[in-house]
Amino acid sequence: MVMKYKRPVILIHGGAGDWSSRDWERASTELIRALDRGYEQFRTGSSLEAVVEAVAYMEDSGAFDAGRGSVLNSKGEVEMDAGVMWGPDLRVGAVAATKAKNPIREALKVLREGRHVLMVNWGREEALQPGNISGDTVGAVALDVQGNLTAATSTGGIKGKLPGRVGDSPIPGAGYYATARVATSSTGIGEIILKVLPAKELDILVSMGFPVESSLELVIGKITNLFGRGTVGMIALDSSGNGHAAFNTKGMARGVMAEDVKKVAIFEGDGI
Ligand code: ASP
Repeated sequence: MVMKYKRPVILIHGGAGDWSSRDWERASTELIRALDRGYEQFRTGSSLEAVVEAVAYMEDSGAFDAGRGSVLNSKGEVEMDAGVMWGPDLRVGAVAATKAKNPIREALKVLREGRHVLMVNWGREEALQPGNISGDTVGAVALDVQGNLTAATSTGGIKGKLPGRVGDSPIPGAGYYATARVATSSTGIGEIILKVLPAKELDILVSMGFPVESSLELVIGKITNLFGRGTVGMIALDSSGNGHAAFNTKGMARGVMAEDVKKVAIFEGDGI
């Protein structure tokens, strides 16, 4: 069911997958903290600061496949992808295959610099202490009091991937997308998401006038039909504060925080 939230509001996720075999209690605790971290940015900042801080918190937590908790590639190294998009004027910053400590902060620098969209070999290499991950890719979407939407995603990618492999997470329209109307963040198998571009599809449907909930279900349904279940999950928020999460996996770690609501969910039927 779609929920309408009062702005400012932030929705986050810690990845879609088979959560029955993961430490979802730890992930839930970290999601709550990430919500607090993101939401407190609204006091002085916009939805841009809110999503970046929530994602940076999850990167640092070591509880997700992002930042400190990133999975290793086939060479035993960490290479991460991240992207952030500011809806009002479609500004984007993204980094791919980075070894920097907080990929989302590097993506923010690219966005603020404004010259390019997607960078490789960007950011200082910092030795990452592999965390004890329980989650997956992380992402956030937020709507501030001024009505500005932002979307962000960060990931260590897929375990055992070839060095140099870039997934969907730093690609606008695939791993995230934000416009004046809608913001979304995806998680799942990058090689599928890159072919369907579900984040862009969602924007197209919403811009045609379809509600965010049915648009999201349609996009996820299309991927399920093409590639089967267990492949993808997304969160989305529109400019009126309608928020929704949809996934074809067993679970998706997700949470929402607004003035009168703060909750996290992992499995199907848990809402949000
Ligand atoms: N989408 C990410 C990637 O393929 C992984 C994930 O979301 O689990 O890099």
